[in-house]
Amino acid sequence: MIRVRFAPSPTGMFHVGGARTALFNWALAQQAGGRFVLRIEDTDATRNRPEWTEGILSALAWIGIGEESPVFEGPFFQSSFEPQHREAVARLLADGRAYYCDCTREKLQERTGSEHKGYDGFCRDRGLAEGAVRFRTPDEGVTVVDDLIRGRVEFPNDAQEDFVVARSDGSPLYVLANAVDDITQGVTHVVRGEEHLGNAQRQQLLWPALGANPPVWAHLPVIVNEQRKKLSKRRDKVALESYREEGYLAEAMVNYLMLLGWGPGEDREIMPWSEMMPLFKLESVNSASAFFDEKKLRAFNGEYIRALSPDEFVRRCEPWLDPSWDRATFVKVAGLAQTRVAVLSEISANVDFLFLDEPFFDQAAWDKAMKGPAEEILTGYLARLETADMDPDSLKTALEEVGAEHGLKLGKAQAPVRVALTGRTVGLPLFESIEALGRERSVQRLHAALA
Ligand code: GLU
Repeated sequence: MIRVRFAPSPTGMFHVGGARTALFNWALAQQAGGRFVLRIEDTDATRNRPEWTEGILSALAWIGIGEESPVFEGPFFQSSFEPQHREAVARLLADGRAYYCDCTREKLQERTGSEHKGYDGFCRDRGLAEGAVRFRTPDEGVTVVDDLIRGRVEFPNDAQEDFVVARSDGSPLYVLANAVDDITQGVTHVVRGEEHLGNAQRQQLLWPALGANPPVWAHLPVIVNEQRKKLSKRRDKVALESYREEGYLAEAMVNYLMLLGWGPGEDREIMPWSEMMPLFKLESVNSASAFFDEKKLRAFNGEYIRALSPDEFVRRCEPWLDPSWDRATFVKVAGLAQTRVAVLSEISANVDFLFLDEPFFDQAAWDKAMKGPAEEILTGYLARLETADMDPDSLKTALEEVGAEHGLKLGKAQAPVRVALTGRTVGLPLFESIEALGRERSVQRLHAALA
């Protein structure tokens, strides 16, 4: 049975790259009837915070990964496995696979004459009984990491120093803890970011030393921004949560993340999880860096929004609507809004004119629209609105006629009316908006604009 794991460190907002890694693992576990183990790697007490762990759990739940599935195991916490980590270090020492070392950095530098040379193996055969614990690495040959995405990656052993697996206070290092947990948790496939390939070199040696066959490795390509730089917290919008808050739909996000380094082929990109999941293959993940294209993600989201049923759309909009806004009125224009927004947070600017006592006022929009015979248009339309039938066709004909009287085509004649009624230069189709706003309020607003 395939057992994969996702092993995030709770050191910050949960990153879109982490979400991609989680989803690739989730697809593998689901398609094979395997298991997905969630292990929170919380051993760095100085950088961990409980709210980051909460953030990971809620972000994963948002993209569909969580406890309600029989495929899911966890969450486990690495800190709770420290006894096993210490026991593994003891075993490596007892087996002669590791040894104590009391060299300081200064002593090592004195001997090797350089800051950058690795450890020289000085304590290998000194038989010390305390100090940091170093793993004895082979001096010759190569260590091969057979990576499903990168192929055969060879690391010359003479460039790999005897690395530390436990500090002199006995606390185990990350590279060891991570391998021990994977072994204990029966992990068969380690699928993670490319930045861990260096760890794989050392873990490829640690696994057999700990009595286990190394897992299948797969290191996912880095995700880059428009400038082809690795996505970073400082430069880019990387928190999954910020996309959620902006009104991205989880299913659009999931779909888009699955395409970062992989694709279902046949030029298909928009595809629901249920179809995509069985097609996913590690072997067809690309090793080249993957471009996180926010514009494309937005376009995806717009498509997903348009594909929602009308009722579902209204339901999803709920968090973006002011509680005081009349829902029945919203429902009347929801369909119009559904075709125009790319993210749900844009909803409110499209419909707020229906609910505010005074429309949102934007001086720039006003100045732009109130040109030429704008006042005459408003006056003429106001007169007709008093008696016009309140259906979009009649409302349109009325404005066409007023426009014609002043030599304006409908498009131009609409501008001042739209700004007077909604406060904005763009928005939902105008005549449906007037219908929804109603005669009384429309008339009032035109009066106010002319005052
Ligand atoms: N805790 C590591 C991270 O968040 C992941 C290590 C692994 O997947 O092996 O980058």
